[in-house]
Amino acid sequence: FDAREGSIWYDGTMVPWKDAKIHVLSHGLHYGSSVFEGERAYGGRIFKSREHAERLLRSAELLDFKIPYTVDEIEAAKDLVLRTSGLTDAYLRPVAWRGSEMMGVAAQGNTIHLAIAAWEWPSYFDPETKMKGIRLDIADYRRPDPRTAPSSSKAAGLYMICTISKHRAENKGYADALMLDWEDNVAECTGANVFFVENGALHTPLADRFLNGITRQTVIELAKRRGIAVVERRILPAELEGFSECFITGSAAEVTPVSEIGPYRFVPATLTKTLMDDYTAEVQPKAVAA
Ligand code: PMP
Repeated sequence: FDAREGSIWYDGTMVPWKDAKIHVLSHGLHYGSSVFEGERAYGGRIFKSREHAERLLRSAELLDFKIPYTVDEIEAAKDLVLRTSGLTDAYLRPVAWRGSEMMGVAAQGNTIHLAIAAWEWPSYFDPETKMKGIRLDIADYRRPDPRTAPSSSKAAGLYMICTISKHRAENKGYADALMLDWEDNVAECTGANVFFVENGALHTPLADRFLNGITRQTVIELAKRRGIAVVERRILPAELEGFSECFITGSAAEVTPVSEIGPYRFVPATLTKTLMDDYTAEVQPKAVAA
């Protein structure tokens, strides 16, 4: 991934992709002082670019560092990266981290770096295949108590147990893993939020202990626009038995139907399809009325 063509925005300048490197003594690498975003452009426009830039700044503040750019500057940098790439449907990855001046747990004066890369990510998927749903394992690791870690930050360190959990799930033949929280409630997947359907209403875990995804918030808004009831609450794994449909949401996952979670089975149906279609329509740049 590091030897591609193209350019990466790095601390304010565009550098050749293969030269966008960090020093091995970077604090972000040793102590996990790194935050990032994952977002997408559709038809040449970055979906909810501002919300992602705001979340990036907030994620850093939760890790006690300040990214030296404003929301407007970050948005402009992302637009430049997208335009320079020549792509219309792309994935964008802003990442910010503490640099290498001091090596130790404390590194108050270290430079804060910001880089932004974009790569091709076609938005087309085959709805029929997607409607079959993906299979999820249930992870061993729990999402941490907000008193244990800054759980609303999109911090690199919080992904350590996600990668372990996703690898374990993949090795067992699953697409991903559902993670519970430290109190054994349903929480989220390793890179997406989760929704369930019961009697025509959406049920989703309260996002007070894991990332409240921008896609999650978008889907809740889309459901409400259609008059679909949305219940945000604690959900126990045993309740999965009573849900008819299940899907996950994320900038990368969009709305992805789920057919299986451990011993539980779901049949992706009308409500999931409706929200998949609504989300697809929502992310498209709106035509300006003549
Ligand atoms: N939870 C986790 C752990 C994630 O990595 C993501 C992807 N950023 C999400 C939820 C969904 O967030 P969003 O909809 O903002 O992409």
